[in-house]
Amino acid sequence: MKIHEYQGKDLLKAAGVAVQEGKVASTPEEAARAFEELGCSLGVVKAQVHAGGRGKGIAIGPDADRAEALAIASGQKPRPEGVAQGVQLVRSAEEARKAAESLLGKTLITYQTGIDGAKINKVLVADGVEITRELYLGMAVDRAVQAPVLMASTEGGVEIEEVAKKTPEKIHREPIDVGFGLADFQARKLVKALGLEGAAAKNGLVFFKNFVKFFIDSDCSLAEINPLIVTDSGQVLALDCKLNFDDNAMYRHKDIAALLDPAEEDPNEMRASESGLSYVQLDGDIACLVNGAGLAMSTMDVIKYHGGEPANFLDVGGGANKDQVLEAFRILLSSDKVKAVLVNIFGGIMKCDIIAAALLAAYDEIDFKVPLVVRLEGTNVEQGMKMLEESGRKIITAKGLTDAAQKVVAAAKGSA
Ligand code: GDP
Ligand code: MN
Repeated sequence: MKIHEYQGKDLLKAAGVAVQEGKVASTPEEAARAFEELGCSLGVVKAQVHAGGRGKGIAIGPDADRAEALAIASGQKPRPEGVAQGVQLVRSAEEARKAAESLLGKTLITYQTGIDGAKINKVLVADGVEITRELYLGMAVDRAVQAPVLMASTEGGVEIEEVAKKTPEKIHREPIDVGFGLADFQARKLVKALGLEGAAAKNGLVFFKNFVKFFIDSDCSLAEINPLIVTDSGQVLALDCKLNFDDNAMYRHKDIAALLDPAEEDPNEMRASESGLSYVQLDGDIACLVNGAGLAMSTMDVIKYHGGEPANFLDVGGGANKDQVLEAFRILLSSDKVKAVLVNIFGGIMKCDIIAAALLAAYDEIDFKVPLVVRLEGTNVEQGMKMLEESGRKIITAKGLTDAAQKVVAAAKGSA
């Protein structure tokens, strides 16, 4: 689960991690008031979307050329004068109002959002900081090390992916013992690696310790502070933050779970999770309805092996009753990219004849405009397949995974 920068900064601040002060706003007037309330001479207005690269990103209206915008946001084309950037420095309440106006309701295109962009519903008005140094701090679970790893680099503010590719030696890594947190010697190593001295060194130690503690206590899966900045007076502050949390741990962090912004989520994925289905949108044209994540993965593999591209990953879980199948079909068919549907269900606890009945009932309630291929396996499979074959509906039955994949790939090509 992802959250917005302003929400992340609130959480970090509560955990004793120093952040740039700010207030969130949903209207230009609120943004102007926020600037006054912050009482700063320099402020920054930042689009709140779940994507990075906002500084170089641009906010566009509905009629603008998205491909052109993406080329500019990715640095392939020069930035024309007067375009609204996702992060804007402001020096008065009036400038804050104008900056907010140029962002709110618009679509932000950054190198991370791609061509679709992200709708800007809120902006963060933050106390502008004079930056002496821009550093990078990140933490992520490293499966190879079997632990979270804290990463720090003097190359902050820029795309850390580039640093990792070109000069990996500039990223300092410390594996973290989740029971112990960040050890003092590790914190001191980081301070040295980042070249922090005097007050900045002291502030850095506190920052790193609390940051690591927050990551572990909140079940983060990724936390990035880019840039982590050092001011003239030696303050060490998070100027930006990107936090992701482990969905499976959100039951024990109700306060964090409540920060979910439905506007940022894929509507189909939200709808699926409300019905207890796991759904992931993909780029292909063959929709898959499967029970069990392992079976879903192998179904996608076999589709690809036979030259097709899956449109999604949809796991109805152990159940597969009529209501779930019906909702699953509705979600699958809501995309006009889908050219064929493959149902691949293993009837173990749920018998195949019961599943066939659910499929037929759901089929009748849906206007199927694309071919439907069904492969069932398991208890009472003969009975279930017979029901489908004799139903008089336009259902293509398949025997075995290979047969199913070949039939659905052919069907998708035929209806494309
Ligand atoms: P991102 O582009 O989405 O990662 O957004 P950031 O929050 O990292 O902001 C992008 C850049 O804007 C930063 O790297 C800074 O250079 C600049 N910036 C953001 N806030 C401030 C600020 O308070 N003062 C100054 N001087 N620059 C800022
Ligand atoms: Mn950033």
